[in-house]
Amino acid sequence: MSEVDTIVIGAGVAGLTTARLLTDAGRRVVVLEARDRLGGRVWTDRSGGYVTDRGASWIHGITDSPVYAAVTAFGMPTTEFTVGGYQPDSRPIAHYSPAGHRLTDDEAARYVADIHAVDAALTPAIEASAPDASYRDVTEAALADASRAGAWETDRVQRVREYLEHRSEEQYGAWIDELAAHGLDDDQVDGDEVVFPQGYDRLASGLGEGLEVRLEHIVSGVDWSEDDGVTVTTDRGVFTAHDVVITVPVGVLQSDAFVIDPPLPEPVAGALGRLTMNAFEKVFLRFDETFWDEGVYAIRQQGPEGAWWHSWYDLTALHDSPALLTFAAGPAAVATRGWTDAEVVASIMGQLRRLYGDDIPEPIAVQRTAWQDDPFAHGSYAYMTLGSTTDDHDALATPVGGVLHLAGEATWTDDPATVTAALCSGHRAAQNVLGHEVPIERVWATE
Ligand SMILES: Cc1cc2nc3c(=O)[nH]c(=O)nc-3n(C[C@H](O)[C@H](O)[C@H](O)COP(=O)(O)OP(=O)(O)OC[C@H]3O[C@@H](n4cnc5c(N)ncnc54)[C@H](O)[C@@H]3O)c2cc1C
Repeated sequence: MSEVDTIVIGAGVAGLTTARLLTDAGRRVVVLEARDRLGGRVWTDRSGGYVTDRGASWIHGITDSPVYAAVTAFGMPTTEFTVGGYQPDSRPIAHYSPAGHRLTDDEAARYVADIHAVDAALTPAIEASAPDASYRDVTEAALADASRAGAWETDRVQRVREYLEHRSEEQYGAWIDELAAHGLDDDQVDGDEVVFPQGYDRLASGLGEGLEVRLEHIVSGVDWSEDDGVTVTTDRGVFTAHDVVITVPVGVLQSDAFVIDPPLPEPVAGALGRLTMNAFEKVFLRFDETFWDEGVYAIRQQGPEGAWWHSWYDLTALHDSPALLTFAAGPAAVATRGWTDAEVVASIMGQLRRLYGDDIPEPIAVQRTAWQDDPFAHGSYAYMTLGSTTDDHDALATPVGGVLHLAGEATWTDDPATVTAALCSGHRAAQNVLGHEVPIERVWATE
């Protein structure tokens, strides 16, 4: 039994942000974390002499970004890599036709112009959509508008349709029919995107500096009452406090392994029921030489051959050694979940051989994530199922009984599914606990 003012559950970016601000404000805080490390879904693997961000990699736009302000304050080096928003043309990209030929500059320009034409028609299509419409419904409406206006032939329509399917998979780890029409509303990038040559996890260590974090404490229950505060049960004892900030992922909140008693009331419960965890895995392939196109940020495959493996990101400049990153996203992640690494690599290499020939080298090292099987995540991040509204994110953070607060990426409407959302939601939770505003700059203040 231990008594503090506030218990924070989860030492990811949301939980660490909350704990840091509350501690800064003079409250006694303990953070309970199931894993043996800080960071949660920000996780840098340094095995094999490589720096591999197995969770988040990007800041999706550094303009006015509080995460960028924090990583700058913590002295973290960054590398520009503005291709993390599934943009068709932010930086040089090698586009390959269904037959495996690289598009000429003119062909690529026309393809990209078609995508922009459909995106222009997409905004009104989303605005006009029914409450339970899917991202498929609205993209098909936009495709119909743009292709009719331009009198596109079938193949031209299909290439853009595939792009939209892949954008849904790569941005949300969800098949396009299962993502709500508004599911990508937040998906804009302001300014350059950056990644971290020395690892994203230094953000977590910076935020966690000086906090009382109890690692390897698996929380199984949270009992709360307006009058008596909270009791949190872990596999290493029971903790009590006046209030609790719960930052575990949606997948944990929805599981039987994490029981909140009394159950969450409306509007929190309804919002939670309309979100679900995705299927999104990373596969890093390290080579002893490059064999792919020079001077491009990414390689993309059009057509049926690209149904699963359609995008490769060149991390060579980031790591100073030849490396490609690809994603098993949506259906590919679900289908390959039980595969061995060797089976996945063989499947990816088969696709790369179509583009670059039979004599390309095998990878010398492979790292593959398994977020779907992670009991403390159940997926990579949450997405909006059909019938969900963007407000569901913020609704999740509605304070409960004056003593229970939810925070985390899924609770932030403006930019959910990101580190930014986690940090901003942690800031909001701290303000709600304290009952007054706190300048966000306190998050990265080092004095
Ligand atoms: C593969 C992948 C790629 C991504 N790419 C990007 C990207 O490029 N850019 C970006 O901005 N975002 C990206 N994200 C999303 C980003 O990582 C998350 O939105 C963010 O890190 C979530 O932070 P959080 O604090 O809300 O949750 P988490 O980091 O999940 O923190 C919650 C913590 O709660 C702990 N916990 C869970 N259950 C229990 C329990 N029972 N008891 C105690 N503790 C528990 C967890 O271990 C975890 O540490 C990616 C995520 C993944 C997985």
